[in-house]
Amino acid sequence: MTAEIINGKEIAAKKRVEIAKQVQELKEIGVTPGLAVILVGNNHASRTYVRNKQKACEELGMHSILIEMPEDVSEQGLLAKIDELNQDPQIHGILVQLPIPKYIDEKKVIESISPAKDVDGFHPINIGRMMTGQNAFLPCTPYGIMVLLEETGISVSGKHVVVVGRSNIVGKPVGQLMLNQHATVTYCHSRTKDLMFHTRQADILIAAVGIANFIKADHIKEGAVVIDVGINRNEAGKLCGDVDFEEVSQKAGYITPVPKGVGPMTITMLMYNTVKSAAESTAR
Ligand code: NDP
Repeated sequence: MTAEIINGKEIAAKKRVEIAKQVQELKEIGVTPGLAVILVGNNHASRTYVRNKQKACEELGMHSILIEMPEDVSEQGLLAKIDELNQDPQIHGILVQLPIPKYIDEKKVIESISPAKDVDGFHPINIGRMMTGQNAFLPCTPYGIMVLLEETGISVSGKHVVVVGRSNIVGKPVGQLMLNQHATVTYCHSRTKDLMFHTRQADILIAAVGIANFIKADHIKEGAVVIDVGINRNEAGKLCGDVDFEEVSQKAGYITPVPKGVGPMTITMLMYNTVKSAAESTAR
């Protein structure tokens, strides 16, 4: 069997057309969705991510600002900037690009962002709302995965979803969103005993581990849906996922590639959340 490729780039492009239309509709009533990105220090990868987010805003006709702060900015200075953006009516989404320097309390920073502008969906209030199935900003990568499945026509209800990885930004929330959609969910992590026993039962396997080519054909059952969240470099320096695409794609029913799989959906859902925030601001 050769897996059907879930083309994240194409699905993201389709979603972005819908988002651009919503941006136009909001502009017609005098609201331009605005995203503020705060970048602390000079991390090369972070700079690339931030540039891509700004580019996406521009392409969709949205307003975006980049606030660059030095590596040695004080926690107080960063919190003061966030507070200013919380009050700014032209800004509907605030994002602090992680990681931030260790001496700054990341939790405090995330909690200082107004939940109404928390377009990353990392604030405990949004996480709680997501858990209880209320209106919330959903974290972008997990949300993007849900959209990929929906657009591919893969129903989650009643399926056994196995998530490898339990980070707060990917593993945990993606499992929760699957549960909200009536899946049976198993979480695996570095202390899971006999990982293969669990992954082989998955109708849908989500790999969010951060180890290049970690999931092999032996980890999956024939015909499984395999979602690869990983962004890694292999020994040759080439971009690759957590799934050994070569061998797993011979056995899976569906698979997301890296690149052009989950990656393009993350920024798309960030844009979606910012537009949602702008639309909700008109109702306040
Ligand atoms: P983290 O490092 O925060 O989490 C990795 C998880 O994998 C942890 O829960 C860890 O377990 C688990 N793990 C590590 N080793 C093993 C193992 N041998 N067996 C089973 N589980 C293991 O990573 P993130 O969740 O932030 O990211 C995961 C990957 O996704 C990375 O490659 C990252 O670059 C990528 N990513 C991609 C995005 C996209 O837009 N496509 C967005 C965000 C991330 P434990 O908790 O026990 O330590």
